[in-house]
Amino acid sequence: GFTGTIYIDPDEATINEMTKKKEEIGKQNKLLQQLKGRESVTKDGQKIELCANIGSVLDVGNVLKNDAEGIGLFRSEFLYLRKNDYPTEEDLFEAYKEGAQAMGQRKLIIRTLDIGADKRVGYFNLPEEENPALGFRAIRICLARPEIFYTQLRAILRASHYGNVAVMFPMITSVEEVRAAKELLHLAEVKLHEEGIPFDPNLEVGIMIETPASAVISDELAQEVDFFSIGTNDLVQYTLAVDRQNAQLEELGKASHPAVLRLIHKTIRAGHDAGIWVGICGEAAADPELIPIFIEMGVDELSMSAARILPTRKLIRSLS
Ligand code: PEP
Ligand code: MG
Repeated sequence: GFTGTIYIDPDEATINEMTKKKEEIGKQNKLLQQLKGRESVTKDGQKIELCANIGSVLDVGNVLKNDAEGIGLFRSEFLYLRKNDYPTEEDLFEAYKEGAQAMGQRKLIIRTLDIGADKRVGYFNLPEEENPALGFRAIRICLARPEIFYTQLRAILRASHYGNVAVMFPMITSVEEVRAAKELLHLAEVKLHEEGIPFDPNLEVGIMIETPASAVISDELAQEVDFFSIGTNDLVQYTLAVDRQNAQLEELGKASHPAVLRLIHKTIRAGHDAGIWVGICGEAAADPELIPIFIEMGVDELSMSAARILPTRKLIRSLS
């Protein structure tokens, strides 16, 4: 799994080697268990919040098992991808509520619908596009079809009553988009209030920084929201003009490219200047070579697949 190599009909030497490796990994995993309940803090006291990325509420058990401090990215589009028709407010509410309750005091950041590009949903009847990654996707669809977005926002707000929920908008490129999204959220709050349906009035609102545009104007965007979460998967793609779906270009699409690192650094500084916290939720958040750099830049939160939480906590605790 580490190298992506499959041995067909392995000889005895290979079997022995792999068995030994497996035992070693088992031992390491046992040692990692001792880090449960411990802080993710550097030797000199810099505390990082270590969170998990999930695509379904079914993943919450694994998140808790690996002792994540919260869920930094719930890719909510999966609830839409599994259906043959638009999920109802009730469908969404039930799923979010289950997640919020299971997480208890730990935060659950629900990223609003991010479809389009590689995530196609038939019943949305999206137009064919020459360049879908640069096309009608994510927040663009949500703002153009507010009835879909509004339903999701109501469901998120209702679930916020049952836990520590936050909402986050993807693929932002302008201040206007953030204001339009917040306006719809506000409308949903007003209606719920009128209907006497409870929600968390202090729900945190954040955006993903995953386009170069949003990183460049992060100082302005920081005035609008409670937090930033940097999506390095898309930020790399759009900054370096490297299609994230194209395996042939993998070597070119690295978050360690100085252009990407500068945008990340700029975003963290802009967030901190405005007094908001900044996390990273793309794949780079779990990269042991980049984590020390992100920590030096002052990142507040890292969100990754649940299995990476304890190894990353171990790494952070070894750094100064
Ligand atoms: C990202 O772009 O880095 C991200 C976390 O979002 P997704 O991978 O779902 O596009
Ligand atoms: Mg993304």
